[in-house]
Amino acid sequence: MQGHSERSKAKQNAVEESRGGTLKAARRDPSAPLRSGRDDKASLGDTPPEEFREQLHRLADWIADYRANLEQLRVAPNAVPGSIQRALPSEPPDAAESFEKILADIDRIIVPGMVHWGHPSFLAYFGWTVTGPSILGEIVTAPLNVNAMTWRTSPAATELETVVIGWLRQWMGLPAEFGGVIYDTASVGVMHALAVAREEAAPSTRKLGLTSRGLPRFRIYTSDQAHSSAEKAAIALGLGEENVVRVASDSDFRMDVSALREAVTRDLAEKLKPLAVIATVGTTSTASVDPIPEIAKICRENNIWLHIDGAYGGGFALLPEFKGLTEGWADADSIVINPHKTVFVPLDFSVLYVRDIERLRRVFTLVPEYLRGDTIEAEKNYMDYGIQLGRRFRALKAWVIWRSFGREGMVAFMREHLRLARLFGEWVKGSSDFELSAPISMGVICFRFVAGIVDAGPEIDALNSKIVEEVNASGKAYLTQTKLHGRTIIRIGLGNVLTTERHLAEAWALIRKTAFQVGAIDPATPARSRPRAVR
Ligand code: PLP
Repeated sequence: MQGHSERSKAKQNAVEESRGGTLKAARRDPSAPLRSGRDDKASLGDTPPEEFREQLHRLADWIADYRANLEQLRVAPNAVPGSIQRALPSEPPDAAESFEKILADIDRIIVPGMVHWGHPSFLAYFGWTVTGPSILGEIVTAPLNVNAMTWRTSPAATELETVVIGWLRQWMGLPAEFGGVIYDTASVGVMHALAVAREEAAPSTRKLGLTSRGLPRFRIYTSDQAHSSAEKAAIALGLGEENVVRVASDSDFRMDVSALREAVTRDLAEKLKPLAVIATVGTTSTASVDPIPEIAKICRENNIWLHIDGAYGGGFALLPEFKGLTEGWADADSIVINPHKTVFVPLDFSVLYVRDIERLRRVFTLVPEYLRGDTIEAEKNYMDYGIQLGRRFRALKAWVIWRSFGREGMVAFMREHLRLARLFGEWVKGSSDFELSAPISMGVICFRFVAGIVDAGPEIDALNSKIVEEVNASGKAYLTQTKLHGRTIIRIGLGNVLTTERHLAEAWALIRKTAFQVGAIDPATPARSRPRAVR
């Protein structure tokens, strides 16, 4: 990121030459010294065009250098809480500062204080990816900076949103009766879906609210492996987090359908009102997939809203060999998919599909007088489909990345991640010191260190936590941990286009070395002769 001014200048000359002469006349002499941003501001107005161009070239180099050098950086900083804040002035700036100075601080303070989610050895959560085209998509969105609230305020943003939602719908194999809307996150998606479920179960809630109407107590069912966004939605909608019933999962971490049926039956007997079931395709810890067709049957029989949380797993429906994933989806009322997890779009980009999306519009449309004129001609104003009025032009970055990779390109990356996940699983299975803690699903591997002990119990939990802490503190790889059946386990998620077999092998070697260090074990010692503490 440093020392790029020479290259920047040469590159700028090349770029200018390749563009031909039309814009040339307006440009500054590249050999002239850079003015220091807005230090000399006496005048108003934006950065002068030629200076802005120079800064953009500089930033282009910065971005390319960051990508090129990413692997050399620590994945996570060894910062202590508060250290970054202390390095920054607490007083807001009165005087203008130059872009060079700001960029230098980004290099000096911000970059070393980052967890680099795009680093090839970042193996946490579901894996994460940043790609060249996705960066370009973000960049091109910035100068437009539109508000995609109504068609009239941004025709192209509105229509492109409809187009990319349609593309994703086709890739997922969803029937055309599902319409969609782009939100920031799946948590926001499920909240909107449940608001529609609530309105249909308790008509006029939108107008009258929930109180003093003698309404039953509504219940939402989801598995003990489902994401906490279920409770968050219940909190936001006044349904109460205690009314989210966590249904037991089976030994493969899939919702136990008979337990669901029992919970619904029990609640009905107690005059509680089953409102919705949230079934997950790709749970947060293990990426397990709930049995959607059986769950859908229970929902149909009891007139319960079915929401599918495909935040992570939904994207795998792009692969023909994963088409089985979408079985039963057509029976759902709503489905959320996070292309910012698996379909290569940068954060944030989540799509909520609702069967007959008019149901969603009816709950949220509200046109104040000052916006009426903006809404007259259009069939679709996305502000009508949620609580947000101002909306980013998120569709553009998706359009750029999806065109740049094509479905085939994305599928090729996903297949490689699947291959790597299975390969890591083989390494774990081949080691008597580790065991798999869940079936490998999609790009997720859950495993733990057992120090060669069959049926290792909770005494090994702290060791597994420590392994994750130490690996992360090393700055060489980054992992997550979770609990499964009460046991602490280590978790790897693969999804980064930069992660190769070499990175995974290096991470595996580091995990092994760290495990033996924190357990004070000589790997050559047979398990039976090891100290009790790790048995
Ligand atoms: N659903 C599942 C299965 C998840 O794993 C997550 C987050 O990891 C979410 C929902 C929430 O996603 P978001 O951060 O987009 O709200």
